[in-house]
Amino acid sequence: MGDMPLARREEASRTAFDEAKQYIPGGVNSPVRAFKSVGLTPIYVDRGEGSRIYDIDGNSFIDYVCSWGPLIMGHAHPEVVRALQETVVKGTSFGAPTLLETEMAKTVVERVPSVDIVRMVNSGTEATMSAIRLARGYTGRSKILKFEGSYHGHADSLLIKAGSGVATLGLPDSPGVPEGVAANTITVPYNDLDAVKIAFERYGNELAAVIVEPIAGNMGVVLPQPGFLEGLRKVTTGYGALLIFDEVMTGFRVNRSCAQGLFGITPDLTCFGKVIGGGLPVGAYGGRREIMEQIAPTGPIYQAGTLSGNPLAMAAGLTTLRLLTPEVYDRLELLGARLEAGLKRNAQELGIPLTINRVGSMVCPFFTAGPVTDFDTARTSDLERFRRYFGGMLNQGISVPPSQFEGMFVSGVHSEQDIDDTIEGHYKALKAL
Ligand code: PLP
Repeated sequence: MGDMPLARREEASRTAFDEAKQYIPGGVNSPVRAFKSVGLTPIYVDRGEGSRIYDIDGNSFIDYVCSWGPLIMGHAHPEVVRALQETVVKGTSFGAPTLLETEMAKTVVERVPSVDIVRMVNSGTEATMSAIRLARGYTGRSKILKFEGSYHGHADSLLIKAGSGVATLGLPDSPGVPEGVAANTITVPYNDLDAVKIAFERYGNELAAVIVEPIAGNMGVVLPQPGFLEGLRKVTTGYGALLIFDEVMTGFRVNRSCAQGLFGITPDLTCFGKVIGGGLPVGAYGGRREIMEQIAPTGPIYQAGTLSGNPLAMAAGLTTLRLLTPEVYDRLELLGARLEAGLKRNAQELGIPLTINRVGSMVCPFFTAGPVTDFDTARTSDLERFRRYFGGMLNQGISVPPSQFEGMFVSGVHSEQDIDDTIEGHYKALKAL
């Protein structure tokens, strides 16, 4: 990399985006892709390979979005591609059971001790929505408790004080969510166990569940403080409410047995997504057998899906899970630590307040002196500075999430050289601020 910023060519992407806006709301099929909050033209991706993406303008980027988490083994991993090729020629969907589904369920059950039994769905949103319905049906209670700045997908009940794209766009609670539904969702600050206890004192016997990201990843990355998750386990058990871990982002990313394995907490239900689909559309929810068997056809609580357990998605997900050996997790930790250290060094050298929260390969630099422990402290970040930094990183050939409220994802196929180039590009991007 030279001293001058590498300019990003974007003419073809701009033309493509203009055309897309005529046919697709905002030109995109998921809001943050429009780069609205950073005021730039989205990258139109042509292809991905390993740690890199290549756009239709001929730029290439070291990628830390990695499809917002699923691609823990990088783009177009040869083994994932092979598994997909072998599966696709046998047909793409049957609406009848296949052996791959049992293999997937067995793999999840073997790795995650709290999960006795698991149901596949098609997205993280479906997983959390279904888990909430199950918790309500099982307990006979209506209210749920979630945390401010957490994102659990876009089901009505969960789109209250949400993080991720909702936070990025600075939207209040979404229009279209009926008041009656919103009234059943209680929100309190992340890491605030006292607020949880107060909510339970007030609504205890009406609360069906607490749903929590065991490591928050949608207000930027925020770690649970010591005792927080243990406290949630105790309070929910005390009141007969379920504890739902939303591990859509953390599942199989931070540890072979997910965040719950890392912290040694046993939730009643767990939601999965992203990594278990290996880049194809997948979600899942699982947990204690007696609860899960309340779902149809064993129980009365309904949930279904035309494409659920889709063979292609199972093949990509299973292959990805098999690639995730203990050595890969060690590598993710090493690369994450190397990146964190470099970004910190750059900020210190340039006198820029930067707080870096990290767990393994989830890395989030906040433009604030910190510490960042919840959504309010995440929002002390300088968003204008983030905006300029984001553009600077693109110009250096580095793709990071276009939002202060999202973490970077390192994959097992990023090289040490990728990390070092990123640190160098980051230095230049910060210096140009
Ligand atoms: N839960 C968490 C923790 C997430 O990070 C996400 C997506 O980012 C979701 C749920 C929703 O998943 P999906 O986008 O697959 O519907």
